[in-house]
Amino acid sequence: MSAELTKYKGVWVFIEQMEGKGAPVSWELLGEGRKLADKLDTYLAGILLGDNVDNLAQEAFAYGADKVFLVASPVLKHYRTQPYAEAIVNLSKKHMPEVILMGATTMGRDLSGTVATKLGTGLTADCTQLDVEEESRYLLQSRPAFGGNIMATIICRHRRPQMATVRPRIMDMPQYEEGRQGELIREDLSLAEEDVAVKVVDYIKEKGKAVYLDKAEIIVAGGRGLGSKENFRLIEQLAEVLGGTVGASRAAVEAGWISADYQVGQTGTTVRPKVYFAIGISGAIQHLVGMQTSDVIVAVNKDPDASIFKVATFGIQGDMFQVLPAMIEQFKKQLV
Ligand code: FAD
Repeated sequence: MSAELTKYKGVWVFIEQMEGKGAPVSWELLGEGRKLADKLDTYLAGILLGDNVDNLAQEAFAYGADKVFLVASPVLKHYRTQPYAEAIVNLSKKHMPEVILMGATTMGRDLSGTVATKLGTGLTADCTQLDVEEESRYLLQSRPAFGGNIMATIICRHRRPQMATVRPRIMDMPQYEEGRQGELIREDLSLAEEDVAVKVVDYIKEKGKAVYLDKAEIIVAGGRGLGSKENFRLIEQLAEVLGGTVGASRAAVEAGWISADYQVGQTGTTVRPKVYFAIGISGAIQHLVGMQTSDVIVAVNKDPDASIFKVATFGIQGDMFQVLPAMIEQFKKQLV
């Protein structure tokens, strides 16, 4: 590694917040960042931007941060790319972090690209696994590639910081350690409101998507095996009995049986429920990357060689049109 690169120290996590509430993915990334920082024998820091968000610094310490870099300004009250990127680029130039992690959320995806471009460094989007090679200090950034057919591990050899985004619910939530302390470093924003091209005229909250798959504890997901929109009702019935949420493979979405909001997988939502039912889903890699970290996976498929059985905790080989009604019946009896 060149002498220049050895000047970069610290693993930083962008603490995404909206109206003063931290996004869970930021805490998940602090948990992951802690492991990386320990392996690199360096510190873990949160980057906190906003107006009146000091309370989140304490939360970041409780989730494992050693330091928090706080830039507080009314200009940062609502997310806008320009001032947020400016703040992070300036912090980064001054304090030279080795790694910056962000959630692969709408905000994180927008911000990370701009920051990486301004810093002239690399960025790996949508990582599903992170590690470090201790000797070279490379961040090993793994993600599905070539349509999900392979897992690629990407490194950024000549530029710093090494930047990656990670989808929500991929990494474990760390322990919350009440009262844990850290160092709060306040920095100023060099931009004034007049310098920002985009103005926030109004802030309208979305009425809410019908589904919050990434927060569901029980998901009953159906695939092409269902054969028709009418048969998909069986999935809804099982979800109803269990108090769960419906999910779907892309094949079921493309067949028009259910809207894309319900799609699980690489181009849908990443989920991590306590129980995931995969009914008539073959287990293509693009589906697996979105659900394989679920606590318990129950798969129903008539094909004994279906890939879904490789990740299933409980596999039921059989015709779903026999298995599903029996399950619904039994759960009704048990749970009512
Ligand atoms: P199939 O693969 O057709 O499987 C149907 C299964 O049903 C079979 O295993 C069959 O044995 C079983 N079956 C049939 N009848 C019965 C029965 N009576 N009883 C029991 N079992 C039965 N897919 C996603 O899901 N999410 C994504 O986000 C996603 N993103 C993608 C991104 C890219 C770039 C690409 C190229 C593909 C993506 N895909 C995604 C598509 C993915 O490759 C698969 O095509 C898709 O997941 C297949 O859906 P399926 O398992 O429902 O259908």
